[in-house]
Amino acid sequence: MEEYEIFEKIKEYFEDNYELMRLEGGHALTEDVKQLALTQVLYYFTKLRDVATKVTDTEVKLTLPDQKTPKGRNFTIEGIVDIVRDENETWMYDIKTHDTAYIESNKDLYEKQLNVYAHIWQQLRGQVLDKTAVISTAYPRGLKEAHLLNDQFRIQYELSKWNPLIELDFDQAKVKEVVADFANTVDCIEEKKFKPASVETLKGNLEGTNSKFGQRICRECDARFSCASYREYATSKGKGERGSFRKYFDDFGSDTDKEDWVNANLAAKSPDDINPSEIR
Ligand code: SF4
Repeated sequence: MEEYEIFEKIKEYFEDNYELMRLEGGHALTEDVKQLALTQVLYYFTKLRDVATKVTDTEVKLTLPDQKTPKGRNFTIEGIVDIVRDENETWMYDIKTHDTAYIESNKDLYEKQLNVYAHIWQQLRGQVLDKTAVISTAYPRGLKEAHLLNDQFRIQYELSKWNPLIELDFDQAKVKEVVADFANTVDCIEEKKFKPASVETLKGNLEGTNSKFGQRICRECDARFSCASYREYATSKGKGERGSFRKYFDDFGSDTDKEDWVNANLAAKSPDDINPSEIR
């Protein structure tokens, strides 16, 4: 297939997926945000074309059943990965929306998860595995800026330095430890022990980034309005408690986000106006 034909197909699938997600989730995007998201997919394909065209098994569901927590609860670990096999080796890829800097600085977190998937693939399924890697789908800031400025020279430069594929080691010896971590987490969830990160953590930079944990993680967290750490973090900065408390309760994103949300939903068709044949 020629490259322009692949791009046309990607655009078609993108539109179909967008419509489905909009109907399921009830969130619409403005046309420019949607176009920006499409360019992210196209750049991502350009960069990882070799991997994308060699994938032999997509969205492989891996299951580790019949596990027990220290308190005797049963649980199952499930994960979804992509597999690429060629005549020389087999790779397992875990796709993440996190940015490369964060993944590079927190490799051990990603290695733990991949270790369990590798264990299921090799030991339970009896399959060969040579390498594991995480693929970061986040839009690199530099590339996004270059695209918005339509700076072709910088786009090429940013594309050349972008490495969305981060190879990770896998070590079967660590699997027991990781499964035990999962087991403890299951007990905590079942016993409703949801201790948030400390205020100090929220005030500090997220490992490998220049952003604060409270800004980068908590502002996207649906539990933030009932989280004691976030309340303290959000109200302890700014000009005086009253002012910042009001800001905390009114914090539904930036003015641009709110405007985009209103515009996109005004422009979106209601589910009743959509002909089912428009969605393939
Ligand atoms: S706001 Fe959410 S992410 Fe942040 S500390 Fe609280 S629970 Fe955790």
